[in-house]
Amino acid sequence: MKVTNPSTGVVIRELPDDGPAEVARKHDRARRAQPGWAARPYEERASAIRRFRDLLARRRDDLARTLTSEMGKPITQSRNELDATPGRIDFFLEATPGVLREETVLRREGLEEAITLEPLGVVANVSAWNYPYFVGSNVFVPALLTGNTVLYKPSEYATLTGLAIGDLMGEAGVPEDAFVVVTGAGPTGASLVAQPVEAVFFTGSYATGRRIAAEAGGRLVRLNLELGGKDPVYVADDVEVQTAAASVAEGAFYNAGQSCCAVERVYVHEAVHDRFLDSFVEAVRGYVVGDPMDAQTFIGPLARPAQVALLERQVEDARARGGRIRLGGKRIDRPGAWFEPTVVAGANHSMELMRDETFGPLIGIQRVSGDEEAVGLMNDTPYGLTAGVYSPDRERARGILARVNSGSVYWNCCDRVSPRLPWSGRGHSGLGATLGREGIRAFLQPKAWHLRPPV
Ligand code: NAD
Repeated sequence: MKVTNPSTGVVIRELPDDGPAEVARKHDRARRAQPGWAARPYEERASAIRRFRDLLARRRDDLARTLTSEMGKPITQSRNELDATPGRIDFFLEATPGVLREETVLRREGLEEAITLEPLGVVANVSAWNYPYFVGSNVFVPALLTGNTVLYKPSEYATLTGLAIGDLMGEAGVPEDAFVVVTGAGPTGASLVAQPVEAVFFTGSYATGRRIAAEAGGRLVRLNLELGGKDPVYVADDVEVQTAAASVAEGAFYNAGQSCCAVERVYVHEAVHDRFLDSFVEAVRGYVVGDPMDAQTFIGPLARPAQVALLERQVEDARARGGRIRLGGKRIDRPGAWFEPTVVAGANHSMELMRDETFGPLIGIQRVSGDEEAVGLMNDTPYGLTAGVYSPDRERARGILARVNSGSVYWNCCDRVSPRLPWSGRGHSGLGATLGREGIRAFLQPKAWHLRPPV
């Protein structure tokens, strides 16, 4: 496989990928290692993860450069991701002992009932490229802490980062068969899912998620799917317009819009619509587009060249249906995969832009008459990952967000993930949850103990 720098189109590494036989060998290694890893005292597993966390912090600059060079994330944002990952790992380190604690639920007349939690076994982690440290560690850290072994397949657009994570795990003292990196693209992922693993934790698109669900579901393999989104924000008529516009614009364009929880649709109350639109366009116009290795850059290339054509199609479709291109609108003519930050006004739900995942620096803004229309439009989607409301009125925002069908909701913020809260998608956005206590329980299975000492 070839690793290409998306900001130049130049191949920076060639690597072998894992064919089906190699994937099966890696599965055997992880299988054999699992009972021994699970039998270690929790504190030993936690110490290794603590060292891994510290190594991430120590190597932060090198790791950030690697990530930027292979998927084009602006270097400041790669550093931000690396700086925030240790905090997520700390959450797991602090919360896991409490989750693992044995619970006695009844002690009566010589009868005792108790619950213990056991690891699932071997976990396959098929991962995405857009935040490899976040979406990766959300899975492999709690999986390892709870005694599972992990077959980790990074995306083919973040392979060097995946291999670096594997090296750091080894250096931290995680046995080489407890955390095994599998390299390759879709076919390698399919070989991995075909192994007799106990669970598949997948982060990626709805289309691939469905394929994996069909394959793993037929064998009753436990599944966790973190998929795409079409995340809406509603801007009410009582907001401070400029602040709201700057915040929503950042939520839409950070990482060139390639976040699962990026703002993908904006609904603005008609009373503030025109002022909001002007402020929004002004904020986006201020973003520095360019070399992702430059610390000033806010928008770099797209990680995948194929996405440029999808963005072109969404812009053309929006234009044909009455959308007004207020900013940008076309690919940037330079080597690599580039698209201008683009704002489409006059958007409506007949447009692909407002219905299908965009995953790029392109956003549609739609005028609405009030809260009722906004709620209807926010729910007019098969996805359900996040949704936001901007208004100073907490009760009003709460009332709206309570009616929106999504796993996370935001008041006066967006594009945000917390390790302390469960991260879950509804509908086409996925199954199950990571993060929070649910995201630790997800790697465990209960054992119910019915204990009756001899009379
Ligand atoms: P993708 O579906 O193209 O690929 C994801 C992973 O699946 C990659 O490792 C890929 O090699 C592998 N894969 C591809 N075909 C496969 C198959 N048939 N069997 C097994 N594995 C296969 O997605 P992507 O482009 O890497 O990521 C972008 C998508 O991920 C977006 O839709 C985004 O919204 C979503 N995402 C969701 C979350 C979340 O938390 N909900 C987080 C990050 C990204």
